[in-house]
Amino acid sequence: MRAFGTTIFAEMSALAVRTGSINLGQGFPDTDGPEAMLEQAVRAIRSGANQYPPGPGVPELRRAVSEHRTAHYGLDYSPDGEILVTVGATEAIAATVLALCEPGDEVIAFEPYYDSYAASIALAQARLVAVTLRPMAGRFTFDPAELRAAVTPRTRAILVNSPHNPTGTVFTRDELAAIAEVCKERGIIAITDEVYEHLTFDGVEHVPLATLPGMRERTVMISSAGKTFSVTGWKTGWVCAPPALAGAVATVKQFVTFTAGAPWQLAVAYALRHELGWVAGLRAQLQDKRDRLMEGLAAAGFEVLRPAGTYFVQTDIRPLGFSDGLELTRRLPELAGVVAIPTQVFYDHAERGRHFVRFAFCKKDEVIDEAVARLKRLSG
Ligand code: PMP
Ligand code: GLN
Repeated sequence: MRAFGTTIFAEMSALAVRTGSINLGQGFPDTDGPEAMLEQAVRAIRSGANQYPPGPGVPELRRAVSEHRTAHYGLDYSPDGEILVTVGATEAIAATVLALCEPGDEVIAFEPYYDSYAASIALAQARLVAVTLRPMAGRFTFDPAELRAAVTPRTRAILVNSPHNPTGTVFTRDELAAIAEVCKERGIIAITDEVYEHLTFDGVEHVPLATLPGMRERTVMISSAGKTFSVTGWKTGWVCAPPALAGAVATVKQFVTFTAGAPWQLAVAYALRHELGWVAGLRAQLQDKRDRLMEGLAAAGFEVLRPAGTYFVQTDIRPLGFSDGLELTRRLPELAGVVAIPTQVFYDHAERGRHFVRFAFCKKDEVIDEAVARLKRLSG
C-alpha cells in the first residue's frame, strides 16, 4: 500500500490548519446535524448503549433503513439478512470489494473517482479499470461505448457513485440504464455509492441503480448518515443487498471492525424516522450555497461547472492562467489563504483532470464569502 501514502483530504486539511487558510477542500459541513438527533446520541450513551451492538447493526437502525428504502425508493430489503450497518460508507465499500473480488479481478469505476476505491481495490489485489467522465454540455458524463469497451472477462464489478463526488454529476435514468444493460449482459455486480442520495438540486431526482429492472439482485447499495445528517464524524453507514451478497460483505465486515458504534446507530435510526424534513431544509440551503460559491468563483475568474448534487463544485483553472491543479492547490494558501482539492489525484489518467480544482460549499455563507473575496486576489 506504499503508493497510497497520505490521502489528499488529510494533506489539504493539514495544510489549511498549518497556514490558517479557509478550508474548502475536505468535504465536511461546518454546522451540526439536527438537534434532536444529537440528543438521541447523548441519551443513548446515558442509557447504556455502550457495549458491542450486534454485528449486522442494531435492529432499530436496520428496521429504519428498511422502512426508508421502501418509502423513498419502493425497494424492499429485509432488516434480517439484507441490511448491514457499517463504519461509514468507507468500510462498506472496502468490505464489499474485499468480499466480492479475487486477486486479478477487474473493477470498473468512473474517473475522477473517490480515493478510497483505488485503495480498497488494491487491498483485494484486484485491478481498477477507469472509465473517464468528461464535461459535456456543462456536466460530467461518460460515453457508453467506452464503458462497454472497458469490460473484459475479468470484470467482476462496477462501482457507481451517484450523486458523484468529485464532479457533482447525478446520473440520469438513461445513463443508469446504459450501466444496467452492461451489468446484466456481462454478469457484473454493481456496487453503488449513494452517500449523497439526498443532496440533489434544481429538482433533479436521485435514482438508485437497484430500482432499474433486473438490478436489485445484482446490486450492493451503500449509504451513509455522514452527508445526509451532517455528521461525517459519526461514521455510520449501511449496505442493502440481496442475502448472498449482503452475507459475503458481512463475513468480511466481522473481521474488519466486527460492529459499528452503538450510540450513533440509535440516533441515526431516529433521524431516518423523524428528521427527513430537516434534510429537505439542508438540501435547499446547500442549493443556495452552491449558487453563492459558483457565482463567486466565476467572478474570481474560474470557469465553473454546475453540480446537480453533492456539495462540491468543479472549476477549470485555465482562464486564470494556471494549468496544473495540484501545483495551484499547494500554493493556494500562500496566494489566497484558501484550500481546495486538486481533481487530478482522482484519475488514473491524471492529465485528463490536471486543470480541474474542486471546492466544497458545505460551509457557512460568511465563510464562502470570505473565501471568494480572497480568491479574487488570483486575478488581481
Ligand atoms: N463515498 C463518497 C463518494 C464520499 O464522498 C465519501 C465521503 N463522505 C464516502 C464515500 C465515505 O463516507 P463515510 O464518511 O460514511 O465513510
Ligand atoms: N468525502 C470527503 C470529501 O470528498 C472527505 C472524506 C475524507 O476525508 N476521506 O471531501
